Amino acid sequence: MFNSLVRGLKCRLCGKAYPVQPLNFCTEDFGPLEVDYDYESIRPLISRDKLAARPGTMWKFRELLPLDGEPTVGLQVGGTPLVPAPRLARELGVRSLWIKNDAVNFPTLSFKDRVVAVALSKAREFGFRTVGCASTGNLANSVAANAAASGLAAYILVPADLERAKILGTSVYGARLVGVRGTYDQVNRLCTQIAFKYGWGFVNINLRPFYAEGSKTMGYEIAEQLGWRLPQHVVCPMAGGSLIGKIAKAFQELSLLGLVEATSWRIHGAQAAGCSPIVTAIKNHWETHRPVKKPNTIAKSLAIGDPADGYFAAKVIRDSGGWGEEASDSEIAEAMTLLARTTGIFAETAGGVTLAATIKLIEQGRIGRDDEVVVCITGNGLKTQDAVADLLEAPAIINPSLEEFDPLVTEDGVLVRQAAEELQPAGV
Ligand SMILES: *Cc1c(COP(=O)(O)O)cnc(C)c1O
Ligand SMILES: [Zn+2]
Repeated sequence: MFNSLVRGLKCRLCGKAYPVQPLNFCTEDFGPLEVDYDYESIRPLISRDKLAARPGTMWKFRELLPLDGEPTVGLQVGGTPLVPAPRLARELGVRSLWIKNDAVNFPTLSFKDRVVAVALSKAREFGFRTVGCASTGNLANSVAANAAASGLAAYILVPADLERAKILGTSVYGARLVGVRGTYDQVNRLCTQIAFKYGWGFVNINLRPFYAEGSKTMGYEIAEQLGWRLPQHVVCPMAGGSLIGKIAKAFQELSLLGLVEATSWRIHGAQAAGCSPIVTAIKNHWETHRPVKKPNTIAKSLAIGDPADGYFAAKVIRDSGGWGEEASDSEIAEAMTLLARTTGIFAETAGGVTLAATIKLIEQGRIGRDDEVVVCITGNGLKTQDAVADLLEAPAIINPSLEEFDPLVTEDGVLVRQAAEELQPAGV
């Protein structure tokens, strides 16, 4: 049905064209392949009004996603809130700040549900019965859940030292989960061999060109939720470096299609100090990253030492006039609690990385005090609870008696009670 809207795959280095197929690299130069669209045919099919009339999932942007037919996996994914955060903005000293909250994405509470919905729908179009992934945790959760829902067999490989919640939140769906003693890069290399030997559809390996396109929907939603305009600044976490490039691609496509005015925007990348190959490249003005051999950070979801899209992520940041910042383990935990206390949003460690980086970018003046910024929160704090456990006050334990409760009431409690009394109509 939308077949004609995709021209094929194209090498991001040499531009060589390939027909649509489960292949992620150019056979000439090993450059990554990307989906190539026919934007002139797409232009008349979508408008702000048409999009407004569609259900609020990521699939409202289906003409800009690489499926031939209707999606068959992850039909409810996307449409997450863009939350104004005035209390956090005041705390950080910027004019306007929004949280794009993919911590509540359906079904597995991270932005990975977007990429998996596209990759597994495409896997079914290609006729794969068995799928898989190499994962730092969230992708494992999402592939397992969405494969279970659509009756695909799934083989999932992760570094063996992942958080308990991410392990449990994968095996519960019945996926075959393998913990590998090694880094993510070693897991990824093994998965490349497995995909080739067994002919399976690995979402972030041979299906990667299609998988990656799902991330664009986070960018489209930000623009639509701002009332069809682009924000001045976006801060985005980076692991393999794919999401940040796809948010940028989304903004470029919306401008090209006339859905937003082509105003200027900057995109900034965030990584953990214990694994920051892309940020280090930005800070040193290197054209591309140098791999980190032994990642060491509590932000395990971002711990990719040799990011597949590192070169392109660094380029998109530079081209937009953005910057990169990193966060130590303690800065990550502090930022997670700051976000929770000022916005009511509990993000995972990656969210702590992104907010901590945002704070540094504001302090450096790279994000101006009068500017507006969207902070991308990509995963849920319930999956990485240990990161903040030590920072939080333990609850007071009392017997069920009012006398034991009374001494616990602080000033704010008394004030709230008075305010409530003033609001109560007399005699009620
Ligand atoms: C995977 C992941 C990212 C980054 O994804 P890339 O596209 O590989 O850069 C960011 N945040 C969370 C929580 C993730 O799981
Ligand atoms: Zn090439």
